[in-house]
Amino acid sequence: MEIIRTVGEMKERARALRASGAVIGLVPTMGYLHEGHLTLVRTARELADSVVVSIFVNPTQFGPSEDLATYPRDLERDVALLEDAGADIVFAPEAPDVYPRGFATVVHVQRLGEKLCGAFRPGHFDGVCTVVAKLFEVVRPDLSVFGQKDGQQAAIIERMVEDLGMDVQVIRGPTVREPDGLALSSRNGYLSDEERAEAPVLHAALEHARSLYDSGETDTARVLGEVRAMIEAKPHAEVQYVSAVDWKSLDDVAELRAGTMLALAVFFGKTRLIDNLVLGEAGGEG
Ligand code: AMP
Repeated sequence: MEIIRTVGEMKERARALRASGAVIGLVPTMGYLHEGHLTLVRTARELADSVVVSIFVNPTQFGPSEDLATYPRDLERDVALLEDAGADIVFAPEAPDVYPRGFATVVHVQRLGEKLCGAFRPGHFDGVCTVVAKLFEVVRPDLSVFGQKDGQQAAIIERMVEDLGMDVQVIRGPTVREPDGLALSSRNGYLSDEERAEAPVLHAALEHARSLYDSGETDTARVLGEVRAMIEAKPHAEVQYVSAVDWKSLDDVAELRAGTMLALAVFFGKTRLIDNLVLGEAGGEG
C-alpha cells in the first residue's frame, strides 16, 4: 500500500493508473477509521482495480464552534487498518495543499444542502461538496463509495455529480452499527458512559417508526412525534431535528412511503449524533 501526501503526487499516480486501464475507486474519509469506513473500502475493493482512500479532516466543513481542533486523528492506526482492508493508496494531504493561498471556489448544492443538518450547520455541505469535487478532480475515480449513515451527504453528492456531469459513479454503502444499534461514528468516543448507554435509543426509535409504517401507519407527523418522544425520554438527549424526506431528492414527504428517509440529529451533552433509516428497504438497514 502506498501513502501519498501531496495533491501533485496523487494526480500523477492517478494519471498513471488510468493510463494502465485500471478502474479507480475512491473512498473519502476524515480518518479515525472504524468498521463503517472499512466496509466502504471493501465495497470499493470488490468493484475497482485500484482503491484510493483519502484521509483529510476538511476544515471547510466545520463551523467556527465545532470540533475541528479536537476531531480525533490517528494516521498510523488508519494506515494499518487500510492495509488489512485491502486499500492500495492512502491519500492524506495537508490543508494548505488542498486549499492553497487565494482559494476562492465554493460548490453549493441549493435546497438539498440547506435543510436537515444543513439548517443547523450553515456552510457544512458547501465544505463537503467543495472538497469532494476537488478530490474527484485530483483522483478522477470511476466510482466513489459513501455511507448511508450520512444519507443527506450521499444525496447531495449524487445531485452534484448529476448536475455537473461528473464522470463518477456514486455508490452508497449501508450503515454499520454496534451490536446495540448505535451507528458507528468517529464521534462516539466523545460520549460519557451515561450518554453512550442512552445513545442506542436513536436506532431503536427509528426502528419503532419502521414497525409503525410496516403495520400501515403513514401519518408523518404522528410517527415523527413518537420518534421524538422516545428519544426525549432519555435524560441526556436533546433532539435537534427529526424529519421525513425522500431519500434521493430530500423533499419533505407528507405521507410516509417506501423510499422515505427518516433522519435525525440529537445531542447527547456536547456530542451531536445523526442517524437515519429508509422505509421499505429489505434487511432492516438503511
Ligand atoms: P467521515 O470520516 O465521518 O467523513 O466518513 C467517511 C465516510 O464513511 C462517509 O461516506 C460516511 O458516510 C461513511 N461512514 C461513517 N460512518 C459510517 C457507518 N457507521 N456506516 C457506514 N458508513 C459510514
